[in-house]
Amino acid sequence: MLKLTKQMKADIRKLKEQDIIVCDTCGSENVSEKMWVDVNSYLTVDGETYYKYDGCIDDNTYWCNKCYEEAAPVHISEYKGDENAEQKS
Ligand SMILES: [Zn+2]
Repeated sequence: MLKLTKQMKADIRKLKEQDIIVCDTCGSENVSEKMWVDVNSYLTVDGETYYKYDGCIDDNTYWCNKCYEEAAPVHISEYKGDENAEQKS
């Protein structure tokens, strides 16, 4: 198990706030990605467990837990329906 540092905790919080992937159909943040993880490399922060990627992602399969079907997610800044997205042109 990885040792949690203050820096790691801050980085995780930053990721959760700024790097959000949403469903391109409904805008939900409740999107899952199918991937392999290293079962022995994880840490738990505030009751949530974070696993380390194990190698590459095979097929980039995403699932929206709100639409309940396969999704093609986009970064929150690219989602058209998001009122908080900053548009720079
Ligand atoms: Zn959706």
